[in-house]
Amino acid sequence: MSGLRAFIAIHNTTHGPGLGGCRMWSYASEEEALTDALRLSQGMSYKHAVAGTPYGGAKAVILGNPREEKTEDLLRAFGRCVESLGGRYVTAEDVGMSVNDMVCIRDQTQYVAGLPTSMGGSGDPSPVTAYGVFCGLQAAVAFRHDRPYDPYAKLFGTTVAVQGLGNVGYALCQYLHKAGAQLIVTDINQPRVEQACREFSATATEAEAIYDTDADVFAPCALGGALSSETVPRLKASIVAGAANNQLAEPGIAAMLARREVLYAPDYVINAGGIINISCEGESYSLEQAMARTEQIGGTLTEIFHKSSDTGRSTADISDEIARR
Ligand code: NAD
Repeated sequence: MSGLRAFIAIHNTTHGPGLGGCRMWSYASEEEALTDALRLSQGMSYKHAVAGTPYGGAKAVILGNPREEKTEDLLRAFGRCVESLGGRYVTAEDVGMSVNDMVCIRDQTQYVAGLPTSMGGSGDPSPVTAYGVFCGLQAAVAFRHDRPYDPYAKLFGTTVAVQGLGNVGYALCQYLHKAGAQLIVTDINQPRVEQACREFSATATEAEAIYDTDADVFAPCALGGALSSETVPRLKASIVAGAANNQLAEPGIAAMLARREVLYAPDYVINAGGIINISCEGESYSLEQAMARTEQIGGTLTEIFHKSSDTGRSTADISDEIARR
């Protein structure tokens, strides 16, 4: 017995097979895991639609602690479930899953993306996701200062509070540090925080205190639900631009952000770099091409920001409309 407990949610296949990462997490209950899978799969449909990839939206979640409960048996059992769907769902990495895990799943199914480049895949999507978030953050800062979007602009004098220093958050810090931004960081994994402080001269803060920091930009890069009726009033930052999926904890939060004049870069638009990278997979895959396509995230966001300010509607509302169309 592999002990696998998982949900695969296929939300929409209008544009192609449902492509979305597999998350492994210690959910408190099956209901919580199912809700996560359903919300994440919808986010994937919207993400693919706005990014213009030939895929639909889907997502998988495995219940369990990835550090303690992930075994080859479990991954293979998951691979057989994916295979049984006959290609309607294509899996990839998400929180708690690595490129090596995809290699193991590949034993059982052909419907896997994000494999190593040596196996014909596009590798770990996280660095490209981080680059897309960096480009989106640049677009938001440029919009705030009434400047044209430039992914190569310097960010001296800009302070960014980064929540979560995992695969994406840490790589985002690298880009931000190189561009001259000041960093305030937090993670529940203390060694990661210490590493960021050393490498990027970042200032560390407690996990809960990240919302109260004196930053220009808040970059949620941990799990979903960071923006709630409890946390938004505490934000001093006038921009939210981060990698996490499902950042808005409740309906009405996008409007609350807009009322407080916080410029919100919709999560599924800014964090699409990973799926853009995967959509470039194939015989002619090139990282340079994937990065160049990912830079367009900044342009898409700039259009959304302008439309939002012209109409008075929230940025989330505008991007949802684009996705549904
Ligand atoms: P990861 O698991 O590598 O990193 C998550 C980090 O957040 C970990 O270091 C964890 O310790 C930390 N964390 C968890 N709870 C926290 C809390 N309360 N406060 C501070 N830190 C906390 O995951 P990742 O791949 O970096 O993804 C980060 C987010 O971006 C997720 O929401 C993921 O769904 C989203 N995302 C990732 C990708 C990708 O390519 N990896 C693509 C799109 C979206």
